[in-house]
Amino acid sequence: MLGQLVDRLRQRTGTATAPMRDLRIGIVGAGLGGVGMAIQLLEHGMRDITIFEKADDVGGVWRDNTYPDAGCDVPSHLYSYSFERRADWTRRFPKQPEILDYVRDCVRKYHLDERLQLGTEIVAAEWDEDAARWTLTTAAGATHTFDAVIWGLGQLNRPKWPEIEGLDTFEGTIFHSARWNHDHDLTGDRIAVIGNGASAVQFVPPVAEKAARLYQFQRAPNWFLPKPDAVFSAAEIRRFERVPGLDLLYRTRLYAGFESKWVALRSGSRVAEVARELSTAHITKHVPDPELRAKLIPDYPVGCKRILISDNYLQTLCRDDVEVIDDPIVRVEPHAVVTGDGSRREVDTIIVATGFATTDFLAPVEISGAQGRKLEDVWADGARAYEGIAVPGFPNSFILYGPNTNLNHNSIIFMLEAQYRWILGAVAELRKGARTIDVRAGAARRYDERIQRELQQTAFAADCHSWYKTASGRITNNWPGPTLRYWFDTRRFRRGDLVIE
Ligand code: NAP
Repeated sequence: MLGQLVDRLRQRTGTATAPMRDLRIGIVGAGLGGVGMAIQLLEHGMRDITIFEKADDVGGVWRDNTYPDAGCDVPSHLYSYSFERRADWTRRFPKQPEILDYVRDCVRKYHLDERLQLGTEIVAAEWDEDAARWTLTTAAGATHTFDAVIWGLGQLNRPKWPEIEGLDTFEGTIFHSARWNHDHDLTGDRIAVIGNGASAVQFVPPVAEKAARLYQFQRAPNWFLPKPDAVFSAAEIRRFERVPGLDLLYRTRLYAGFESKWVALRSGSRVAEVARELSTAHITKHVPDPELRAKLIPDYPVGCKRILISDNYLQTLCRDDVEVIDDPIVRVEPHAVVTGDGSRREVDTIIVATGFATTDFLAPVEISGAQGRKLEDVWADGARAYEGIAVPGFPNSFILYGPNTNLNHNSIIFMLEAQYRWILGAVAELRKGARTIDVRAGAARRYDERIQRELQQTAFAADCHSWYKTASGRITNNWPGPTLRYWFDTRRFRRGDLVIE
């Protein structure tokens, strides 16, 4: 709305230099990233927008991850768009259904349905230099051309299965946590859970309630902090609704609180030491058995992997019918999981909670840019992008939640909104008549070198296995600093770093 107003004002006051050209914009992915981008484009006067979504519904990870007790570790009031705030969140840390409802509500409110092509997977994208257009090809073979394409595929969209001998010979029920099998009743099952990341930590407590026995297979322990969750009372919700600006104030306070946690992620900082002590105390408090506790206290710095927050997982591990096994799994048999020490545990069900193919970014879409260069070749040594958004040689193509924009301490929505603003700047240039916008290779290289250098000063670079790194150890996923720094970085559209034709 504001964008349209500014455009109109510019035209009235004669400050509009040239008529804006109509752009065709294709957005791939209707998760929180793509939906917010579409809203922002509409609000800034763009009309010709198509959103492609391979699934039959919007919501991205919040549509896919329906495991018991799925939710977000970032509070509701902060894990929502600043331009689409809600006063009536039911609890401090939202559960998956409420977030999914929020995304669907946004889609309805901004009439994105008319621009959505659900059940339409984009499998290829090709840049046509002469026409200065992208051609997107769907899995069904249809093609669509656009002046600009925006990728909203996320970093956690493709479940990763472990390579364990015999896994395919298992004769019981087996499924990935991100593709929960709701048809299978877990009551009375002997259950193996492979993986103990953020997903497992949420579903293990309710699943243990149902299981006859639950085996938690763990490769490495995690650092934990308490989860100060609470349901908002009717009076609190009323206050958020009635007191102007209260929700914004609350959101700002939450943001500042989360942002201040950044210092704990700087390697060797005193705050990191304090975080380690706090987390050790938290684990010690909830795990009285010294033998079990020894398995659960990590030896790597806090923040090297995602810091987990929970108020019921550690307690669940102390149950008599739950066992934590940190011997590596050597093979799976038709009815059992076998570990390195030769132990064989018979199970009825295996729940694979081994996360996602996080470092592949836009894969498996085949993307070819200027001179037919393939993105997968450009990224052969790991994904990288200027401001996490643009890759040299791939003009008019912009990535949301791209390389080095993930966080371990604050809301991804804040990062997305910084990206929206940068992309709106690029789109404005195209509307004003620019044919193409590309990032200079030198600028992109310098940016990447800076990010990688700074990452070495963070806990992410410590000696641990995490989804933030490639097999060769390059950190492709995380942002190396406070989010405010990213906001400043992306605030200005640095023309010197770009080729605007
Ligand atoms: P994840 O954090 O990547 O955890 C995967 C788990 O599987 C780890 O424990 C990992 O062990 C283990 N694993 C991986 N490959 C294995 C193999 N071959 N054999 C045995 N174990 C293996 O995945 P996730 O739990 O699905 O979470 C992914 C991310 O999604 C989170 O970090 C978070 O950003 C987001 N998420 C957030 C929430 C939330 O807000 N509460 C909830 C769920 C997910 P290692 O640790 O040894 O690698």
